[in-house]
Amino acid sequence: MSPLRVAIVGFGKIARDQHVPAIAATDGVELVAVADPNASLPGVPHAATLDQLLRDGPEIDAVSICTPPQARQRQAAMALAAGKHVLLEKPPGATVAEIMPLQAVAQQSRRTLFTAWHSRFAPAVEPARQLLAGRKITSVRIIWKEDVRVWHPGQAWIFEPGGLGVFDPGINALSILTRILPQSVFVTSADLAFPANRDAPIAASLTLSDALGLQITAEFDFRQTGPQSWDIEIETDGGPIAFSQGGRKLSAGDRQHVDAAKAEYPALYRRFRELAAGGECDVDLGPLQLVADAFLLGRRRTVEPFED
Ligand code: NAP
Repeated sequence: MSPLRVAIVGFGKIARDQHVPAIAATDGVELVAVADPNASLPGVPHAATLDQLLRDGPEIDAVSICTPPQARQRQAAMALAAGKHVLLEKPPGATVAEIMPLQAVAQQSRRTLFTAWHSRFAPAVEPARQLLAGRKITSVRIIWKEDVRVWHPGQAWIFEPGGLGVFDPGINALSILTRILPQSVFVTSADLAFPANRDAPIAASLTLSDALGLQITAEFDFRQTGPQSWDIEIETDGGPIAFSQGGRKLSAGDRQHVDAAKAEYPALYRRFRELAAGGECDVDLGPLQLVADAFLLGRRRTVEPFED
């Protein structure tokens, strides 16, 4: 079978750090072009915009859209209209509802639309999902705290409307949560801390629950210096289960699962290749819906201005 010819749209931090090496490591997927107003990759055809790429660039089968979320919908619609398969980096868009029409177009034309929640491909996620399937869960605590200056250097879009602020990493925790819990959950309260000079929160505290009153708390903070925290602690009737390192490490009784390798993005591209081969969609808006609900319910506090 001929390889899936992919163009990366938006050649920033995540495209360079993860997508390029993951594509290189995945059989049956090939990077053939890059579209970005300023950035390029030596030896790979470049266009300033997706429009230009579709008009003048090499033949492609698919796009991986890695631009900030505010630009995604228009680009995904353009790619689907041109008959291309589409992988959307997380979060899939700037709003929940903008994705549904894209899915309808993709299904009608038998093209793939893939909302790629990369954290769900962390090696500890599937073992945790299987463990939890047979247990009663009594509480869940999420602590997701990182230094925005380290992970998002100079990215003004993240604090603009639609950029999600601290929910940009926090949504990764919610994507794991909604994958490993057998039941669906919803937001019951949110406290959002907005810097005085920004339009998106720099920290957030959430409570969530399920139909039976399960207690779930989530602490998201972008101001964490020193050691970073990407942890989920789950109490169950069979003992505690702890995730750390963003889903790369799982501890459950005497069972330990650790994977130091960067396995998420190659797994994500294997999934994209499979989906594209059958023209299937894999669309899940659950994590984005929880973030939207946190904005709907959230009590807003103004905190000190943030300067990058
Ligand atoms: P970034 O470094 O700011 O990269 C975004 C790139 O897209 C920039 O090169 C930007 O160019 C370009 N761009 C903006 N508008 C465009 C357009 N209309 N057409 C083509 N290119 C355009 O951001 P990032 O960290 O890579 O994040 C991008 C997405 O990946 C976000 O949704 C984020 O949540 C997700 N993600 C990021 C990380 C991470 O660790 N950083 C991890 C996982 C997922 P200019 O800079 O010139 O505007």
